[in-house]
Amino acid sequence: MPEGDSLHRLAAKLAPVLEGREVIAFSARRLPDVAARSLVGRRVVSVAAKGKNLLVRFDDARVLHIHLRMEGRVFVERPRSTFWLPSRSEPDMRLAVAGAAIVGRRLPVLRLLTASEERRSPDLAGLGPDLVAEGWDEAEAVARLRALADREIAEALLVQRAVAGIGNVYKSEVCFLEGVDPRALVSELADDELVAILRRASALLRKNLGDGPRVTRPSLGGARLWVYGRGGRACLRCRTPIVRFLSGPSPGRSTYACPTCQQAPRPRREEEARP
Ligand SMILES: [Zn+2]
Repeated sequence: MPEGDSLHRLAAKLAPVLEGREVIAFSARRLPDVAARSLVGRRVVSVAAKGKNLLVRFDDARVLHIHLRMEGRVFVERPRSTFWLPSRSEPDMRLAVAGAAIVGRRLPVLRLLTASEERRSPDLAGLGPDLVAEGWDEAEAVARLRALADREIAEALLVQRAVAGIGNVYKSEVCFLEGVDPRALVSELADDELVAILRRASALLRKNLGDGPRVTRPSLGGARLWVYGRGGRACLRCRTPIVRFLSGPSPGRSTYACPTCQQAPRPRREEEARP
């Protein structure tokens, strides 16, 4: 599932292919032909990830905005001979430079924006601090989570205008690693708990920027994740069966937790308050 780490990995892979090169062909199924044609001859200035968004910038200040959600894919296609091998079916997007092309399939979001459209776009300009980026603003991230006081933490962590980069896998993993019940409301958690969750998420996302499968625990050949996808199986710390439930607005997103390792905040607070 593409989360902030996957998008940053993808951007790092695409940047050396595209940056500084001139677009020699561009097609996109859902963009008007005239917009698509207008990119030909433009130069790619940068390829970057912002949260879970991929942004390809051109020398006329326009930006191609791609979001993969659950199923989308973007990959590099290179000619295997002096001729292009045609793709099996028409992709959603194909952007060619000399010697290579990037191809997108099943893309739910593909937009070509001017600089002012980008500034007005709530899903780009309104994004919270990107936890993968160097030097993200902790105080800002906590403040934005606080604005979601009545939401469960598992749901709030997925709200990209609060913090950008966390997806469904990391959401469950960071709550487990911090011993926090994913059903705890943001208002029930102290600032230091929110900071710990965010620092942990950032560290995990950044650790997974290299090649290889996503890992949140030292696996030594065992499970790579603590709780995600492990409903009904024994907790890797305490052997209690992991529970799976849905959180967030209907239909809800799968959330996994250990009922023993992850305490609800209210009773714990009462315990602490006891003399
Ligand atoms: Zn446990």
